[in-house]
Amino acid sequence: MIIAVDGPTASGKGTIAKALATHYGLPFLDTGLLYRAVGFQVLQNCGDPDNPHDARKACDFPETVLNDLTLRSEAVGGLASRVSVHPEVRAALNKRQVDFAHQPGGALLDGRDIGTVIAPDADVKLFVTANAVIRAERRHGEMTGRGEDISLEAILVDILARDARDSSRTNAPLKPAADALLLDTGDLTIGGAVQAAIALVEAKLRRG
Ligand code: C5P
Repeated sequence: MIIAVDGPTASGKGTIAKALATHYGLPFLDTGLLYRAVGFQVLQNCGDPDNPHDARKACDFPETVLNDLTLRSEAVGGLASRVSVHPEVRAALNKRQVDFAHQPGGALLDGRDIGTVIAPDADVKLFVTANAVIRAERRHGEMTGRGEDISLEAILVDILARDARDSSRTNAPLKPAADALLLDTGDLTIGGAVQAAIALVEAKLRRG
């Protein structure tokens, strides 16, 4: 079984994806991490994330980069969003994701274009969302909880910029697949969102 989980930043899709992968015993790939690794590597190479040639070169990042905790930062998330607009970058990362999705026994991937580009044949496609203010409040809580000094407004501006860049790019924009099941986590706790996601998957599997 292939499960695709897509959605914007801080929607809860990562938490839901990991919980679903555990629940159904599926290997899990956080595809955002691949784009983050490219964004990180561009800087290591002293390149320009907006230059397609520099960004493509950074796709040959060493595998150890994927374990670097800096990848989780907001700054690297912003770089990832910039390198991900280049078709060359998406093409370079495509095979790894397609192969992961189609391994024997299935898989669960989370990202922006899993249900539309990487695995349009997925058995279940979830599109997880929540309004931008709620997502900014969540991210703000996480960051201030870690001791980072940043305003809610700055995070909201960053989230809106990332949403706009991810949704407006011509190549694999962030958008629900026509047959995706929508899950708005705005009013849900983490536990409630996971339960709602499992219920949606179960209902889809019953329908076939
Ligand atoms: O999901 P995450 O926040 O880690 O993704 C970082 C950035 O990588 C996103 O803002 C998006 O621009 C890009 N991305 C993408 N396609 C994916 C996963 C992530 O374009 N499948």
